[in-house]
Amino acid sequence: MTASTFTLRPYQAGSVAHLLWLIALGSRWLLLVAPTGSGKTVMACDIIQHFVAENKRVMILVDARQLNFQFTATLERCGINPGVIMRDAHRRHSAQVVVATIQSLAAGMKAGRFELPDADLVFCDEAHKSLSPTWEKILNAFPADTVRLGCTATPCRSDGQEMGDRYDHMVIAATYSELIEAGYIVPCKVFSHSEPDMQGVKKSGGDYVAKQMAQRVEETTLIGDVFDHFFDHNPNHKPTICFAPSVSKSEVIVKKAWELDIPAAHIDGYTDAETRQKHFEDFEAGDIVMLSSCGVLREGVDLPCAEFGILLQPTLHLGTYLQMAGRLLRPYEGKTFATLLDHAGAARRHGLPHADFPWELMRSEKSIENVLKKKPKPKLRRCPKCGFERESGPTCPHCGFEAQAPTRMVRTEKGKLVEIEDPQFAQPKPKRSKEEKATAKAIGRSLNSGRNMTMKQAAWLYKQDTGEWPENGRGPWPPRNHPHWGRTVREHMQKG
Ligand SMILES: [Zn+2]
Repeated sequence: MTASTFTLRPYQAGSVAHLLWLIALGSRWLLLVAPTGSGKTVMACDIIQHFVAENKRVMILVDARQLNFQFTATLERCGINPGVIMRDAHRRHSAQVVVATIQSLAAGMKAGRFELPDADLVFCDEAHKSLSPTWEKILNAFPADTVRLGCTATPCRSDGQEMGDRYDHMVIAATYSELIEAGYIVPCKVFSHSEPDMQGVKKSGGDYVAKQMAQRVEETTLIGDVFDHFFDHNPNHKPTICFAPSVSKSEVIVKKAWELDIPAAHIDGYTDAETRQKHFEDFEAGDIVMLSSCGVLREGVDLPCAEFGILLQPTLHLGTYLQMAGRLLRPYEGKTFATLLDHAGAARRHGLPHADFPWELMRSEKSIENVLKKKPKPKLRRCPKCGFERESGPTCPHCGFEAQAPTRMVRTEKGKLVEIEDPQFAQPKPKRSKEEKATAKAIGRSLNSGRNMTMKQAAWLYKQDTGEWPENGRGPWPPRNHPHWGRTVREHMQKG
């Protein structure tokens, strides 16, 4: 019998039951998608307790010291005293439950200092990383019957590998809209005014090359602008996290902040644990308003008081964006929504941070980013006055600015009302314009193909593009069974 230490929320209990059921059916590679605020650790501990109650052995793999400390502390609260594998903190490798930092585990095994402990369940934290060679090697070293349970908020990778290459089943704990509705996370307002022009910046492994990205941001993002917007939107100096494109830029921001009387601190990979902890405490107490870093505040850091985010790192990778923005979504006393000041064009590329993503366990030929591209995503509209990004509607819900109702001159012509829209404000007619676009594309492609393609062949190109045949008799397409279908496109378009 398991005495659960935490009271599980209904969806948490459901997810745990679903996972245990899959394990009972024989699944050995499972992925739990637990978005920010869904209580990943609580669900993990409950499953671990189920294994412990059955006298089974559990290993927890994390990839940072901070996470090892956090996990160990949580398990202790559940009455489990885990062994620890971590540089300078090894203890009781033979304990029933062991928390291991992956780097220390790999290094210790390689040097022959210890062997891989036995485990019936291997829990992988931040499992979007678990396809990397170090993780793979360790995960594969366990016997085939060992259960591998990965957990992540963002089941996607930037390097083209897919979670489905490794994992067989995915359980999604909850969606953002469910979590918002239940008050477990807050929604996020996004303001953007401009974005750096990233054209020409080299890409590698699915994202911008870090050095070039940072240089481009350096050249195009004015630090003065960043602070102007900060003062505009955050006059009361609520706790703010800055996601900088490089360590040096982060340091520059912190220096500038102090010049403007904003208490700020920079954190990077070399900041020692004590200083980091002190910064976190000062941040929570309000003695530090702005915490800035490049990369390190993205994962495994729980700063629920953070209400504002300044995003200066453009990324092509959805997971990276969601990890950064996800820091802001935790509820906190007096916080009803978070605010992201997006100087990186990230929301316009990836959508709002609390949007529901249709995660799927992709096999490598289909990337989640490709699937997302095809799903109709509400296009964000930017308020020209305040920069607020909204999903729909003519009025800005933030400042009330009305996108001018389309200026329409209405004139009567032969007793008919004809609307002439100012093209600047013309409301898009998505269906019609999509067809027109596809038609123009198909006709253009067939004219430029260097072959004398017929209208029939052009229609085939249209179908390849849209999945549907063009409508007979509409636009340049001849009516059904019309002899012009056999004409070349060139001839048809010339003669009409
Ligand atoms: Zn506005």
